[in-house]
Amino acid sequence: MTVKRTLCGPAGRKGGSVALDFSFSDSEEQVRAATRRMLDGFAPRRAELQRQILKEQHFPEELWQAFADAGLLGSLIPEAYGGNGAGLLPLAIAMEEMGMQGYASALLVVTAMDTACLVQNASEELKRRVLPEVAAGRQKLCFALTEATAGSNSFRLRTTAKRSQDGKHFLVTGEKTFITGADVADRMLLVVRTTSLADCQSKGLPKAYGLSIFFVDPKGPGISMTPLPTRGIEGFRQWTVAFDEAEIPADGLVGELDQGAMALFTSLNPERILAAALAGGIGRHLVRKAVDYAKDRVVFGDRPIGSYQGIAHPLAEITIELEAARLLTYKSAWAFDHRLDPAEVGQAANYAKFQSARVALKAVDRAIQTHGGSGFSEDVGIIYFWEAMRLLKTAPISEEMILNYVAEHDLGLPRSY
Ligand SMILES: Cc1cc2nc3c(=O)[nH]c(=O)nc-3n(C[C@H](O)[C@H](O)[C@H](O)COP(=O)(O)OP(=O)(O)OC[C@H]3O[C@@H](n4cnc5c(N)ncnc54)[C@H](O)[C@@H]3O)c2cc1C
Repeated sequence: MTVKRTLCGPAGRKGGSVALDFSFSDSEEQVRAATRRMLDGFAPRRAELQRQILKEQHFPEELWQAFADAGLLGSLIPEAYGGNGAGLLPLAIAMEEMGMQGYASALLVVTAMDTACLVQNASEELKRRVLPEVAAGRQKLCFALTEATAGSNSFRLRTTAKRSQDGKHFLVTGEKTFITGADVADRMLLVVRTTSLADCQSKGLPKAYGLSIFFVDPKGPGISMTPLPTRGIEGFRQWTVAFDEAEIPADGLVGELDQGAMALFTSLNPERILAAALAGGIGRHLVRKAVDYAKDRVVFGDRPIGSYQGIAHPLAEITIELEAARLLTYKSAWAFDHRLDPAEVGQAANYAKFQSARVALKAVDRAIQTHGGSGFSEDVGIIYFWEAMRLLKTAPISEEMILNYVAEHDLGLPRSY
């Protein structure tokens, strides 16, 4: 039975009240069950698949297709465009479930974040052309924002797009870096400047003005990529992608010209929320592995190491923190699905990502510690997650930038930069 309580105060934002219900709907439970069933099908080969993903940086095509066939890639896509419109919360539940079974895919997260952006900002023609392909698993998407001189500060990016004389194309020049999966992605969501920062400053326009987003074929003419040996992302490599007057179709513009900043946030929030879900799931996977080992491993006498509080308490503490991270993650996905004010979604997404990334890193540390030397064994399969969970302190948004956001927006403290 669902027990509903009514809250006032912050939750009842518009002076009214909001029901607070922690139960899942039938369809959300079905997504969790379907994801579990789908992954159970791979259970006999899990070790081999995980090895491919974590060690060889290769995400098996059959897994991608299975996610699509389970309807997960269509979660953010309305039925009219070939999806099921289930929403971000079911997708977050599925990502968490994946993590709990020890699977992670950054490009699934990126494809979902791009999808969210396309659904809300792309032209009708582009949506009809692309979204059914994504839902069916036939198109993978990457995301190109970061440049050598523009990471945390996206407004400083310098890659520019200028409209061609016939107006049908834009010519793109510049270089993106750290682009995950650019080699295997069929399309890229590319963030550029169509009005330079200097022009914005001289005209008194805000620095957020002048960004534009394009849907681009990363293997198109004038675009080249170079591998960037990087650690931390499972299943996919990072690339530097150079644009040398690359001609891209004008009809690939997503959202309004020069107004890409708002559209950008329709993708960055889902990215943070899904990264949080995945991290929380992996945290649970690692705690479970540690607990199984601690129940079994005997070092002194005949009692397993799990009976020592030095081993048990940190795992118990992480379990509580994982639950807090899970609640923040679900809340943020719910806020996105209910189309709350973007600032509210942004706040919830930041909290969720911060907490999940922190606890996931703690979980991998304690899983290694619990396993002793075996924690470093490739066969045990924990050590790979050390880099992946550590990355989350830095990307897709760093801890510092989240704390900056909270200090400024939630606490009203002055900005230092
Ligand atoms: C494995 C991997 C995969 C990636 N995949 C992608 C991708 O697919 N697409 C993409 O576009 N990008 C990608 N990135 C880039 C990633 O998003 C950036 O690395 C990240 O946003 C940080 O930017 P930066 O590296 O330029 O760090 P910088 O912005 O140079 O920051 C350096 C340090 O200074 C801190 N700092 C900066 N400003 C402040 C401030 N005002 N206050 C306090 N501290 C501050 C930062 O938090 C950080 O710790 C990836 C990165 C990695 C490592």
